Amino acid sequence: MNENFLILTGMGYTSKAKGSPLVDQIDAILPQTQCNQCDFQGCRPYAEAIANGDAEINQCPPGGQEGADALAELLGVETLLLNEEHGETKPKRIALVDEKVCIGCTLCIKACPVDAFVGSSKVMTQVIAEECTGCDLCLPVCPVDCIDMVEVKPAKEILFINYLQFYEELYEKQTHEKKQRTIAKRRFEFREMRIERNKQERTDLLEARVIALKEKMAKDKTQKEKIEAAMNRVNTSKADDEVK
Ligand code: SF4
Ligand code: SF4
Ligand code: SF4
Repeated sequence: MNENFLILTGMGYTSKAKGSPLVDQIDAILPQTQCNQCDFQGCRPYAEAIANGDAEINQCPPGGQEGADALAELLGVETLLLNEEHGETKPKRIALVDEKVCIGCTLCIKACPVDAFVGSSKVMTQVIAEECTGCDLCLPVCPVDCIDMVEVKPAKEILFINYLQFYEELYEKQTHEKKQRTIAKRRFEFREMRIERNKQERTDLLEARVIALKEKMAKDKTQKEKIEAAMNRVNTSKADDEVK
């Protein structure tokens, strides 16, 4: 019996698979391009939507038909043709910056979900080719349109010579792709963690400033009250002297 056998309930799929939870299993199949073409904010939210029965298995163009088929197999359901409304499956591409045109605005750095850019403010930016998932998210934010997507040829095409060699090479290719997905996922999660930490640090800093300001205002108020009390005492003393 297929250990990945699942039940589709009103609430989505219930996993009978042993080991990792269903969302993790679905997420592991997704390409981790984090491009949002599936209409979800990244691969993990799409995986959660599939598990909950809120999304179809054919909404991920980077994963292609192969990805939809793999999801169908995992979930024990009929596969679906890739829904082209979400875009077409393109060959592996990476971003390339025209260094002569780049103005170092860093907008692409902020848009990249896997931190594939190197550079800083007013310094020319470039892409670490191995880290780029080809998500296209940096293209629309570049104000000078100096990023191009260039196609990357697969390291080696798998030719059919005999079954053994074919499956060995297929296994090698799938292992390589899995490794790439794992790296992209880690980089994305690390970036999310860093953004969350920075946000928390800014909140903490703001709260500390508000507390310091309140303390200063309270101190100023106390001092003002002390001065007023001293002034009152002086005035009372003067008035007493005049009476005498
Ligand atoms: S790679 Fe696929 S699952 Fe991930 S965000 Fe893009 S479309 Fe969605
Ligand atoms: S460099 Fe551009 S295309 Fe490559 S992963 Fe980053 S945002 Fe996506
Ligand atoms: S968005 Fe364009 S101009 Fe700005 S740093 Fe990136 S590549 Fe350079």
